[in-house]
Amino acid sequence: MSDAGSGGMRTYDVLVIGSANADLTVRVDRRPGAGETVHGTDLVESAGGKGANQAAAAARLGARTALLARVGDDAYGELLLAAQREAGTEVRHVLVEGGARTGTALIVVGPDGDNSIVVSPGANDRLTPDDVTSARETVAASAVLSLQLEVPPATVRAAVAVARETGTRVVLNPSPTPDRLDPELLAAADPLVVNEHEARQLSGLTDGTPAEWARALRDRGARSVVVTLGGDGALALDHADAKPVTVPGTPVKAVDTTGAGDAFTGALAVRLAAGTPLAAAARFAVRVGAASVTKAGAQPSYPTLAELPPAPG
Ligand code: ATP
Repeated sequence: MSDAGSGGMRTYDVLVIGSANADLTVRVDRRPGAGETVHGTDLVESAGGKGANQAAAAARLGARTALLARVGDDAYGELLLAAQREAGTEVRHVLVEGGARTGTALIVVGPDGDNSIVVSPGANDRLTPDDVTSARETVAASAVLSLQLEVPPATVRAAVAVARETGTRVVLNPSPTPDRLDPELLAAADPLVVNEHEARQLSGLTDGTPAEWARALRDRGARSVVVTLGGDGALALDHADAKPVTVPGTPVKAVDTTGAGDAFTGALAVRLAAGTPLAAAARFAVRVGAASVTKAGAQPSYPTLAELPPAPG
C-alpha cells in the first residue's frame, strides 16, 4: 500500500482502536419470541468484535494493519489473538487483562442470514484513554484510524483527540448507535460509516432517502458520510460540495451477514489509506462486504484480494 493518502511516511495503513469479542453463534429456523425456547444448530465459536473485525478485514486485504484492544486472559482471548495473527495484524497493542473475561457476542442467525446479537463487553470496557495516549506514536504512524463505539466513550474521544494532533484520518463507525452522537466525534468522522438504520437514527429524519440522511449528517458536522445499504450496496457523500454517489450492490447468495459492515469499513479504510477517493473506496468496500456474506461468521468470512468477486462493468 502507498502512503499517498494522508501524507508522510506512515508505518501502518490502518490502525483500529476498538473491541474484540468471541462470537458464539447458533443458527435457527425461527427466532424465539419472549419467553420462548427454540432449538438451534451446534454452537460455533469464532473471532469477532467490531474493532477486531475491521482490523482483520484490512489485514486480510494486504494492508499494514495494527489493532489496539483489550482481551481477557482466557481461552477466548487466545482465540482472538490467534485470529489477528493469522490475518496478518500487528498485535503488539492488544493488551491482555488479567482476571477479566474476553468480550463475548451471543449471535442468533435466522434462515434469511440476518442476525440478532447480544454483547457482553468484558475486557473491552477496560480499554482506557491512557491506553490510547500511550499508543500516540502508533496513531501518528498510521494513515487511517478506524473507530467504533464498542469501547468506553472516553476512550473513543481520546483516540479522536490524538488523531487530530497527529493528522491521522478518522473513519468512524458509530455502532452500537447512541441516541445522540458527541459533536466532537461527528466532526472528526471522515467518513462517518453508517448502515440505513444508523443513518436514519443519527440524522434525526424519520423518513427520507439515504442521500437525505447523508446530507443531514454532513450538515450536522461529519466531514464525509458513507451509508451502507445491505445487498443494495452503499451511498458515498464526500466533502463540502460533493454530490452523493450511489454504489450498486454486488449480487451474491447471502449465507450469513454477521460482520459484513465491519468487512466494508475495514476495506474502506484500506483504500482511503492508499489515497483513493471516497466513492471509489466505497466501490471496493461493497465487493469486500459482499464476499463476506457468502461465508459463515465474521472474521472467518473475510476475503483476501484474490477471493473478491469481480468488479462490475
Ligand atoms: P452487519 O450489522 O450485518 O455487519 P451492517 O448493517 O453494518 O451489517 P449492511 O449495510 O447490511 O451493514 O452491509 C454492509 C455491506 O455488506 C454492504 O454495503 C454490502 O457491501 C455487503 N452486504 C451486506 N448484505 C449483503 C447482501 N445480502 N448481498 C450482497 N452484499 C451484502
